[in-house]
Amino acid sequence: MFQDPEATRLLAISPHLDDAVLSIGGGLAQAAQDGAKVTVYTVFAGTAPPPYSPVAERMHAVWGLSPDDDAPLYRRKEDVAALDHLGVSYRHGRFLDSIYRTLPDGRWLADHAEGGRKLSVSEHAPDGDPDLVAEIKDDIKAMIDECASTLVVTCAAIGGHPDHEAARDAALLAAREKNIPIRLWEDLPYAVFRPASVELPQGFHLGSPDFSSVATEMRTRKFQAVECYVSQLAMLDGNDVSMFDRLDEHARKTSPHGGYGETTWPVICKEDDS
Ligand SMILES: [Zn+2]
Repeated sequence: MFQDPEATRLLAISPHLDDAVLSIGGGLAQAAQDGAKVTVYTVFAGTAPPPYSPVAERMHAVWGLSPDDDAPLYRRKEDVAALDHLGVSYRHGRFLDSIYRTLPDGRWLADHAEGGRKLSVSEHAPDGDPDLVAEIKDDIKAMIDECASTLVVTCAAIGGHPDHEAARDAALLAAREKNIPIRLWEDLPYAVFRPASVELPQGFHLGSPDFSSVATEMRTRKFQAVECYVSQLAMLDGNDVSMFDRLDEHARKTSPHGGYGETTWPVICKEDDS
């Protein structure tokens, strides 16, 4: 993913508590082992005050928690264990997951989706939230300063989750303002089911995809780290095929040599793009 790991200070911007590990955990573990300083900053890790939306209460139940549990606190502990297993540092952002957010008119952002386990994030949500993106951008810039980062990586937002898009857009703007290179990772496991169509904000363009092989030991470590997110495993696992089999299969299809690996893209900034 990069040259000269010992001179690299890598800041990974994860939308939720698990996204970075699922998508690029092997690369992060490898980078740390090679001598890079790696920090994962999770944007939407804040604790929400009750009351919770029906969607949030239902998600809490899917995660094996009580409806009124402080789920983000529980999930932050999972994240600490997972990132510790990868040998990387963590920071937790203050922003609330979309299931805890409201629209300007007071309605919940996330709709109650009947039936399935998946949450459907509101159709009446505004197309992007520039104020939220600006606030996240400021926090990411502070993180870049704190970590003296030389490279930022974040999600490509495949699947179109509003939290993923907000985190990505904020990271793109922050990296550009700080003049630091940024790469985007393929959102896993979502990219297994969806075409990798990525639409970046104006002025940003995807470079060519880069498949980085992950050694067996690091793949194992990644999968063990994913298992630290105990609350999320039921949701991530399919009915018949395990998520880990899906990740293996997906990597095999992309890999030139058939082994495990993870895909990222460089981002090209063109300031005066129109
Ligand atoms: Zn996510």
